[in-house]
Amino acid sequence: MDRILDVKDLQVSFHTYAGEVKAVRGVNFHVNRGEAVAIVGESGSGKSVTAQSIMKLIPMPPGEFKSGQILFNGEDIIRKSKKEMEAIRGKEIGMIFQDPMTSLNPTLTIGTQIMEGLIKHQKMSKSAARERAIELLKMVGIPQPERRVLQYPHEFSGGMRQRAMIAIALACSPKLLIADEPTTALDVTIQAQILDLMKDLQKKMDTSIILITHDLGVVAEMCDRVIVMYAGKVVESGTVDEIFYNPQHPYTKGLLRSVPRLDLNKDEPLTPIFGTPPDLLRPPVGCGFTARCESAMRVCQQYDPELQQVGESHQAACWLHHQLAKERVKS
Ligand code: SF4
Ligand code: MG
Repeated sequence: MDRILDVKDLQVSFHTYAGEVKAVRGVNFHVNRGEAVAIVGESGSGKSVTAQSIMKLIPMPPGEFKSGQILFNGEDIIRKSKKEMEAIRGKEIGMIFQDPMTSLNPTLTIGTQIMEGLIKHQKMSKSAARERAIELLKMVGIPQPERRVLQYPHEFSGGMRQRAMIAIALACSPKLLIADEPTTALDVTIQAQILDLMKDLQKKMDTSIILITHDLGVVAEMCDRVIVMYAGKVVESGTVDEIFYNPQHPYTKGLLRSVPRLDLNKDEPLTPIFGTPPDLLRPPVGCGFTARCESAMRVCQQYDPELQQVGESHQAACWLHHQLAKERVKS
């Protein structure tokens, strides 16, 4: 299949007074054209840093790309200049953040903010851009768009601001849309509406989506594939069905047990994963999940398992799936 994004051995660190925080430690994954991929994991797992790396939005310093490639349409984002990135952001890659208040400009009208990209990237005239802005507001379900286009962010409700942000992100029909916890701050009804909207737009515009979330319910509804991150690494990846119905990594199993799921017995108790993730100032030598894992073996502390094929499109990084462990269980 045609890949729009190919992330290879990405390593990102932050230099702090306490030392080097290895936030992303060798991440590999890809996104196909038109596909919706979820990145899930606890906070601090490296999912937002990965997303911001793709947009080249990591402040450097304190951030640093240690190694790897981020191939977008075959070209390495890491090597792009500031100017080249400005042309890509908004036009080729759109981004929706968790908190629209921090990414909308409070001093400009919503209309102006939607029009900016259209004028800059699509070379539209001002009046054409205004027409398109009104259309976009209508498309994301904002009533009276002709009036709303002239208003400022503070005149919008939280849900409407999020919609306006989607309108901005989609203005230039990006090939890839990155949504980092896009609905976390919203109430459930509006959440559902925003997700429906994103799904709809994905179909209409054939946009690829990376959805970063800790909400597994949202993942099941929206995504084709799931990437599970833990302590700066990908520990499991597969189709939604593989991850939800046949999880192979103890961390993924823990995640699934810790969230309410409509598809399972509601009476089953939820069990949070005990313990905390490792400190990435001093990343562990072996598997990052050792201290929290019920199945941990001695090898887990000493060597970090690599991702292995455990199904057709399914990979997991855990010593339990290593050939030697399987042979030992058999004998
Ligand atoms: Fe648990 Fe070991 Fe697998 Fe890590 S490698 S998840 S510690 S069994
Ligand atoms: Mg985050």
